[in-house]
Amino acid sequence: MEINELVRSNIADLMQFSSVRDECGLTNSVLLDANESPYDNGYNRYPDPYSKKLKRVYSEVIGVPSDNLFVGNGSDEVIDLLIRLFCEPGRDSIITMTPSYGMYKISASINNIKSIEVPLENDFSLNPKKVLKALDETTKIIFLCSPNNPTGNSLSEDDINQVIKDFRGLVVVDEAYIDFSQNRGFVSNIGKFENLVVLRTLSKAWGMAGVRVGFGIASVEIVNLLNRVKFPYNVNRLSQEKAVELLKRGNKREIEAVLSERERLSQQLKSLESVVEVYPSQSNFILVKFRDHRKVFIDLINKGVVLRDLSLIRGCENTLRITIGTKSENDLLIGLLNGSINKRLPEFIERVRSTKETMVSLRIDPDGKMESEIMSGIPFIDHMLEQIAVHSGFSMRLIAVGDLENGPHHTIEDIAIVLGDSLFELLSSYRGNNRYGFSLPMDESYATVMVDFGKRAFLQWDVLFPLPLIEGVESDMFRHFFDTLSKGMKASIHIRSNGLNGHHMVESIFKAFAKSLEMIMSEGVGSLKLKSSKGLL
Ligand code: PMP
Repeated sequence: MEINELVRSNIADLMQFSSVRDECGLTNSVLLDANESPYDNGYNRYPDPYSKKLKRVYSEVIGVPSDNLFVGNGSDEVIDLLIRLFCEPGRDSIITMTPSYGMYKISASINNIKSIEVPLENDFSLNPKKVLKALDETTKIIFLCSPNNPTGNSLSEDDINQVIKDFRGLVVVDEAYIDFSQNRGFVSNIGKFENLVVLRTLSKAWGMAGVRVGFGIASVEIVNLLNRVKFPYNVNRLSQEKAVELLKRGNKREIEAVLSERERLSQQLKSLESVVEVYPSQSNFILVKFRDHRKVFIDLINKGVVLRDLSLIRGCENTLRITIGTKSENDLLIGLLNGSINKRLPEFIERVRSTKETMVSLRIDPDGKMESEIMSGIPFIDHMLEQIAVHSGFSMRLIAVGDLENGPHHTIEDIAIVLGDSLFELLSSYRGNNRYGFSLPMDESYATVMVDFGKRAFLQWDVLFPLPLIEGVESDMFRHFFDTLSKGMKASIHIRSNGLNGHHMVESIFKAFAKSLEMIMSEGVGSLKLKSSKGLL
């Protein structure tokens, strides 16, 4: 089969864009040929139009000579260029599978090319006979996607081979997800079949969706044709550089993590009431059929988790596609689906309160990764708030600037308002087990703090300090602090403390309070969980 006979005649006659410096190999010369700025800032020159260095690096990764590689602005560009190369608008057609990746059809429509859809079998496998039966004299390209998006399965090698052998047009095998499968893919067949184009991308297993680099892997003849129709500088310099850098870094660990999370997530999804079927996947996503996919989809959106709704696609009724996330993202998803988590935690909780008397700014990191920093201007209060930051499991950055010349009252009160409000937001993500308590001895003192996180504010304060002042702060301020906090948190807080030393008593109260918060956030401690008879609060 002659590729030149397949290509559109206007393209067969087209001259390739040429760059003088590239043709002469004069990259170190005085470059006055391309109307660039002469002032070097690292990016004043056009990039290499053929991404040669990137091709060299990728050619080693996949074991295919550079000459067989075409670099596109994502593999979406390659799909579009192939259609423009081979299909005459208003006359020719392509064949796509359904369900499969939507861009083949979209690119065809944009170019006024008809697409004929051949349904995959019930198990989403390819039926080569059906594909070959759908051909007519206008068919120029057959797009096969393996592993297939959105179903996740790989097509059988034999079935793909049969289509390639029996079709006298181009067969494009899109291997965007091949690194997540056990298959070698078709790149080693490039020399064998001149009508084969394999698509690969750096957007998935290589983690470079933002870089926009994809490859068409084909005979030198097809690569040259692609070079003829592409924009001269289709892959920018920043992308070429970043792609080279990240390709050299490798992706083994990330792929392994995705594969083990895929297995874990599939198993967990299978055990859910709401799930009807979890389709086997060789990709970095899982197609899942739900009893009520719309409810699941909307519930999750409301909680800040976005899945892909595929229910309108024939063969994918009632399904959602779930991309494998990090372990904690997958845990969150499962927690939201099985009801053990009620709401997605925001990345940070941030509050600023500014009055005539004080300005308090607070940032809480629920994961505790941010370094804590407390600056209230009152050293003993800093010391106590640090107890919360250290012993609760979350970290916080609090800066308060208050009218301390009038005493610490306003500052402490406003800190409690801001902290209470933030803790309400943080802790309302957890439901059901809403009562916690912790007793903490400290030298001659002890404190017991109990928190009923039940949307009703109340403070029980059984604390008698030996002296009216503790490290320069009026002892009643601590009762006032927790009273204000209970209102902001909408929680009942019961505090009892005994001792001979005010400092120890306050510190043990703050520590026990922090441990109670930690228990709320870790969903109670085994059998110590005390369920609310109301269920959801
Ligand atoms: N092919 C398939 C099957 C895809 O799923 C995608 C992206 N979702 C692409 C190609 C396009 O990838 P790129 O980012 O390289 O344009």
